[in-house]
Amino acid sequence: MHVLSGGRVADVDGTREADVAIEDGEIVAVGDIGRGDTSTDVSGKVVAPGLIDAHVHLMMDGRPDVASAVSESDYTASYRTARNLEAAVAAGVTTVRDLGARGTLALDAAAAVADGVLDGPRVVACGRNVIMTGGHGNWFGREADGPAEVRKAAREQLKDGADVLKCMATGGVLTEGAVTGAPELTPEELSAFTDAAAPTDTPTAAHAHGERGIKNAVRAGITSIEHGTFMDAEAARLMAEKGTYWVPTASALHGIVDNGVEAGIPADAVAKAEDAAERFGGAWEHALDAGVPIAMGTDAGTPFNFFEKIPGELAYMVEYGLSPAEAFEAATVNGADLLGIDDVGRVREGYRADLVVLDDDPNETVEAWRDPESVFVDGDRVVGR
Ligand SMILES: [Zn+2]
Repeated sequence: MHVLSGGRVADVDGTREADVAIEDGEIVAVGDIGRGDTSTDVSGKVVAPGLIDAHVHLMMDGRPDVASAVSESDYTASYRTARNLEAAVAAGVTTVRDLGARGTLALDAAAAVADGVLDGPRVVACGRNVIMTGGHGNWFGREADGPAEVRKAAREQLKDGADVLKCMATGGVLTEGAVTGAPELTPEELSAFTDAAAPTDTPTAAHAHGERGIKNAVRAGITSIEHGTFMDAEAARLMAEKGTYWVPTASALHGIVDNGVEAGIPADAVAKAEDAAERFGGAWEHALDAGVPIAMGTDAGTPFNFFEKIPGELAYMVEYGLSPAEAFEAATVNGADLLGIDDVGRVREGYRADLVVLDDDPNETVEAWRDPESVFVDGDRVVGR
């Protein structure tokens, strides 16, 4: 048994003085424990659950022009994935959900981390995105048209071991020619998609910017709306009613808008992102008014949206109206709920020892994530000493 002793503990249940005991990858006690077989003095520090990023792309590296990665080999993409995992965990991220990779790259990354081949956050992955022919992300998605084909495409991902299914309900910013807000998969195709996930209770995610696409996906019973940039009041109400999660990915929008054409991002993408950024504040107002459940996600890998900067999403969430404690909740317990993992996201007995030692209280300030002292995944200290 290893004890983190003398510090404070912070999670959704508040911040309090407590030691944390870890054994076999699990939190076995929280409270006044004293010494274990081994201990780490964390007095003056705060022990928090690691962050959960519900939307990343492990194969991408934040380069300005995403399309330039198309011609790269699978091996190159694999090395980049290993590097991204390392960067994420050093930043205090202990779970990531990959929402679209080529082939089985992200599914294989999940196995590599689980088997101890790579250090990194636990990986939850969707395999390939299910998209309409020529739709957003077509260079790495699984194109499918009509309910029968969409159902088959979704089942193929499950067969490959997907923990979540992801589709494109509208166009996107980074695919040239795609209209950002325009619906892509039809309501019938979206229903076939969620239907394929239902027997195994697999969560489903839909990339959706435009309000029509958002509503189509929510009505089809999707688990989370990714981006949701043009969300209107009706879409927000519908999501709150159905308990559909929103994963806003502010980092993706800011990565493009704050760097622009001068940084080498294609003009088409910058123009679409600027248009989207104007509407994004409105989406937040509608979501907060309606009480839409929110989970933290960055879309890490997109232009200037680096894995080492993942905790920056919490700062954006605070800028758009959440308190630091609410942003922390979105990045821990809400993420765990969305991913369907019931033993991460809290510092509590019986939970996995996914822990980060911080200088400040993350319930008080998002700055607490600046420079984690140590990071444990499944009880293994992968960062710090
Ligand atoms: Zn994405």
